[in-house]
Order: sequence, then C-alpha cells, then structure tokens
Amino acid sequence: MALSDTAPAGSGPTRLKRLNRTAIVELVKRRPGISRSEVVERTGLTKSTISVLVQELIEEGWLREGDSPQSSEIGRPRTPLSLDGHRLGLLGAEIAAGELAVLGCNLLGEVLHARRIPHDQRDVDSTASALARLIAEAHETLSARRYRVLGAAVGVPGVIESDASRVRFAPALGWRDAPLGDRLRAALGPRRRRKLPVTLLDEARASALSQYVFGAQTARAEPLVYLSLGTTVGAGIVVGGRLQRGNNGLAGQVGHMVLEPDGRRCGCGRRGCAETLVSQTAVSRLITGKEAPVLSVDEIAGRLAAGDGLAAEALARAGRRLGLLMLNIGSAINPAEFVLGGPLAQLGDPFVTAAVETLRAELGRFDHHDVSVRICHFGRDACAIGAAASVLLEAMLE
Ligand SMILES: [Zn+2]
Repeated sequence: MALSDTAPAGSGPTRLKRLNRTAIVELVKRRPGISRSEVVERTGLTKSTISVLVQELIEEGWLREGDSPQSSEIGRPRTPLSLDGHRLGLLGAEIAAGELAVLGCNLLGEVLHARRIPHDQRDVDSTASALARLIAEAHETLSARRYRVLGAAVGVPGVIESDASRVRFAPALGWRDAPLGDRLRAALGPRRRRKLPVTLLDEARASALSQYVFGAQTARAEPLVYLSLGTTVGAGIVVGGRLQRGNNGLAGQVGHMVLEPDGRRCGCGRRGCAETLVSQTAVSRLITGKEAPVLSVDEIAGRLAAGDGLAAEALARAGRRLGLLMLNIGSAINPAEFVLGGPLAQLGDPFVTAAVETLRAELGRFDHHDVSVRICHFGRDACAIGAAASVLLEAMLE
C-alpha cells in the first residue's frame, strides 16, 4: 500500500506504474526472500508486468536477487528477492530542543552515518546554515560509500505548510512563517541542491513514520497513533496507509486537546490543554514548583533514581493525564496501536505505567476493546529516522 502525506502526484499510466512499483517494494520489504512468482500471486499483477518492474527496480538499486536460487516444487529455480541495502541512501534530520541531528541510512533503515550537535535554533538563517553543513557532510559520507542518496527531509517541532518548505508556526523554536526550506536549499549551494531534494515535515509525523516504515513487526498495525512526549506534545496519525494532515495541516495537534477547561493557561491561548499537564515542562513544574528552568529528562531521571518521591508522584500524575489523553484520542480513532516516543517516554515507569493503567481501567468501563501500547524503540533517533523514511516513501511515488 502506498503511503504519503501528500496527494499522489500525476495521473494515468505512469501513476499506476508508480503504485505497482510501490506495492512490489512494500511486499519484498515485508517478506524478504519472496520469489517473483509469489509476488505475482500476492499482487494479482501479471507475470510479464512483474518481470519488467522487478528488473527495473533491481537496476535502479531498490531490490536485489539472492545469491543462491532455491528449487521450487516443480523444479524451476526460485530466485529470492530482497531490498538492496547497499545502493540507495536516505538522509533524515531533526531540529530538536537545543540540538540538531542528521543521519544517513539505507532502504532497510540501517544507520550508516549519524551526527548530533548542540545548537541554539532561535535564528532561522544560522539554523539553516548549520543543518546544510551537516546534510552535506552526511551526503558526502554516503556518496563515498557508493550510495546514491535519494533526498533529505527535516523533522521540525511545528506546523509545516503543505508545500513542505515553510514552517508556519513552531512555538518551541519561537518561529512563525519561517522560510526554512528555501534557506536550507540556498545554503546547500546550487550543485548539491540539484542532486538532493529537501523537504520539511512535522516532528511527530516524522516519528510516526519511523515506526510505520522501519518498525520491526511484519504486519503493520493500523490505525497507528504515535505520541511525541517532550517539552511539547503532538501526534502522528496513520490511517489507511496515509499520514493524516487534516484540512489545514493541523491534524495531530493533540497537545492542545482540552483536559481541564479551568486549568492553567497554555501557550496556544486556551486553558487546560494536555500540554500543560503531560509535557516535560508540566512534569518539571510539578517537581520544582517553578515555570523555568525546565528540568531536562536526564535531571528528572536522576531525581527518580535517587528516590525523590516528588519526582515519582509528578511523573505518575502526568502519566494518568496521558492515559486520559490516549482515551480521548482512542475514542475518535480506535487505533490498533499507540507508540509513545519523545524524551519523556524513555523514562518508562512510573510515567508510562500510570498512563497505561489509566487507559486500561477507563477502556474496561465502557466497551472493553483493547489497544496495544509500546515505547518507540528508535529512542531519540525516531524523528530523524522517520524523516529518512519519508524520503523513501516520496521516492517510491516519483
Ligand atoms: Zn494549548
């Protein structure tokens, strides 16, 4: 199934061909070692179409044939197909709180290059220049290893315009209507810009793709809701194989769902948003009694390890509110899976335990349906890996 957060480009036979190519790559990705005849059976496409498309995908570097053909029951050799992890590369980046990260990976999501640097990102131009340097370095590293890099994508903690080039609003960075895409392309220079398409996407949506595209499971859980839990709270929602954008690109702004109408004033202007109760900022305030400075997740973990009861209670309290937030999201979407990511999710117990217990207790009261909840296993790389995954999806549809 094709997955994109934009409408599929083009129309007519070329679009059909792209969808068929995507279906083949998807199938081989989920079932490494599959033969051409099994691809024919599972896709319903004709033998000659599969033969031509598989050959094309092998020549372009998407697929490779196994070394040792096995004999089938009727004696004809079956050549196993798998994704080629040695020829095509993807670059993913993240603008995170106080730092920039860029990584390069192959089609299997295996990381080939990774860099993370501290950076004060208040200024759009200096952020674009620093990111461009990191992206150029990653591009050169992968090219030196003979990878052809398909493109780069940057995860940003904010709302991105539908052209995937401007940041409409990023409160965590203090940006509004920032032309990051244009500045980034200018900083990359004309030669690299031609070879390397660069796009922007929302941090929580990028992170959702890390699980959806490179997650370990062979069957995709859908709908999938990825919750990004840090100084801000957002979601990436995958339904029917597509990342949900909503009417104005605002789908997934779950940090601004109201949990307490008379609660604390949120940065968005409303009162009692989930972000005022569940975020790292909220946990820090519960522990220290102060708005600033916000405790880092390492500092919170340190207090927890030292047996600080106040830190444990603050996390449990925020966790219970997170459980309610998940319950509300679940009522609207009925997801098969919640994936918890971002720095707070890495703290595990008592934060995550309290959330899951609250969710299960409330679900049990009503319709007894269940939902799986797990912690994102890409840790702090989720956004950058997911941004790289978005490059893969876009390239498949080209
Ligand atoms: Zn709000």
